[in-house]
Amino acid sequence: IEQTAYQNDSLAMLGKLSASIAHEIRNPLTAIRGFIQLLHPHLQQLGKQEYGKIILAEIDRANDIIHEFLTSSKPSVPQVGMIPVSALLKEVVLLTESEALMKGCQINLHPLQGDMMISGDVKQMKQVVLNLIRNAMEAVTDRVDGLMGKIEVGAHREGSEVRMFISDNGKGMDIRTLDRLFNPFFTTKENGTGLGLSVSDRIIKNHGGCISVSSRVNEGTHFVISLPLIH
Ligand code: ADP
Ligand code: MG
Repeated sequence: IEQTAYQNDSLAMLGKLSASIAHEIRNPLTAIRGFIQLLHPHLQQLGKQEYGKIILAEIDRANDIIHEFLTSSKPSVPQVGMIPVSALLKEVVLLTESEALMKGCQINLHPLQGDMMISGDVKQMKQVVLNLIRNAMEAVTDRVDGLMGKIEVGAHREGSEVRMFISDNGKGMDIRTLDRLFNPFFTTKENGTGLGLSVSDRIIKNHGGCISVSSRVNEGTHFVISLPLIH
C-alpha cells in the first residue's frame, strides 16, 4: 500500500507540474494571439494577411497540443466517481452541437435503454467522447461528394459491459491509417496533433476498457468504447 501511495504522490506531482507549465505557456500564447489579431488590418494593408493566418493557425495548434498533453499527463491519477452513461453522452453532444451546425453536419444521439453506470473520471471520459466526436466531425467535413455529414452516438449493454458507439459517414480510413491511428503524433490532418486517439486509448485502458474501430474508405467509421458496468 505504501508503494502505491508513493507512486500516486509522484504521479500527482508530475500532473501538477505539467499542468502549471501548460498554464504558463498558454498565457503568453493568448497574448500573442490577441496582438496578432490587432495587427490584422496593418498586415492587410501590406498585403501580408496570409502571414497573420499562419501565425494564428500555428498558435491554435500549439494550444491544442498543450491541451491534449494536459489531459494525457493525468490518466494515472483519475478522480473516480459514478458516471451515468446517458448524461455523459448528452453533455458531450450538447457541447459539440454548435460546432456541428457550423460545419453543416448532424449529430444524432440515440435514446438509451435504461440507465447504465460506469465508474471513472468524468472529465477524462468526456474528453474521450469529445475526441471521437471531433474526429467524426472532421471526417464528415472532409468528404468530397458533398453528402450530408451524419454522426450517430449511442450506447447499449452487452453482458457486464457498456458499449458506447460513435459512427460517422465520413471519409473513412485505409488499412495504413487503421494500423497507426492510436500511435502518438500520428495524424493525416494538416493541423492535427495526432494525440486525440492515443490519449483516449490510454484513458480507456486505465479504466479497464478498450476502444475498437472499423472503417471503410468513403463510407464511414464506427468507433466503440467498451467499459465495465457498475451494477
Ligand atoms: P488528429 O485528429 O489530431 O489527427 P487523432 O489521434 O484524433 O489525431 O486521430 C489520428 C488519425 O486517425 C486522424 O488524423 C485520422 O487520419 C484518423 N481518424 C480518427 N478518427 C477518424 C474518423 N472518424 N474518420 C476518419 N479518420 C479518422
Ligand atoms: Mg483528433
